[in-house]
Amino acid sequence: MTRPGAPEHRQLRELLGAFALDGLPDDARTTMRAHLDGCATCRGELADIAPLAEDLRTVSPDALTDLAAPPPDLGERIRTRIAQERELAQARQRRDVRRAQARRGGRQLVAAAAAAAVVAAALGAGTLLGRSTAPATTALPAPSPSAVIPIELVAVRSMIDDVQTEEAAIIAHTWGVEARFEGTGFEQGRVYKAAFRSTDGRLLPAGEFLGTGGKVLKCNMQSALLRSDTIGFVVTDDSGTTVLAADL
Ligand SMILES: [Zn+2]
Repeated sequence: MTRPGAPEHRQLRELLGAFALDGLPDDARTTMRAHLDGCATCRGELADIAPLAEDLRTVSPDALTDLAAPPPDLGERIRTRIAQERELAQARQRRDVRRAQARRGGRQLVAAAAAAAVVAAALGAGTLLGRSTAPATTALPAPSPSAVIPIELVAVRSMIDDVQTEEAAIIAHTWGVEARFEGTGFEQGRVYKAAFRSTDGRLLPAGEFLGTGGKVLKCNMQSALLRSDTIGFVVTDDSGTTVLAADL
């Protein structure tokens, strides 16, 4: 009977796997069988690995080779895949940037449209005040914050004692001319008409307003006359009497 601690046991124990797979030379197999007869430990281990050996015998050696050996182009495929992933990531990044820019652009368009709507509303008001030649709103350029509107302050002569107005701001628009002024003393409820005088002697209506008596009146009067063609601004009452006049 072989003792488990014997050198033969240690050597043969390491060969149990090969024995289970029937891979030992004849003499070694004979020695193993003799040892197993007397060694319960090795019999126990063989019993443990026998089912595994059975499974392993059903596996094709070719399949084992395929599993074990990576394909020769694996490294290249990994590098290609990494490069593709990197390109995809960069493309997504570019797409996100474009979308963000588009959103910003959209907001700018909305802001420009809103500004244009304000201008259109102002022009509409101008039309209500009597100016019948409002420029097409679609032709209006989007207002730019950096655009400087040329404004000149001109002295206004008051022809009626009650009316107090000292100066008007004349604004040279691309579409016409505008006069802004504040005043008091315009008779409450009375209709006043504003007009610009052109270099060729015409009087172009710039709108109408109602007097507000002692309250401060703020007026924006506009006409489709270019500033360069404008030489005067007048306000008349409903009897045709000139109330205000300015030389431009
Ligand atoms: Zn043994």
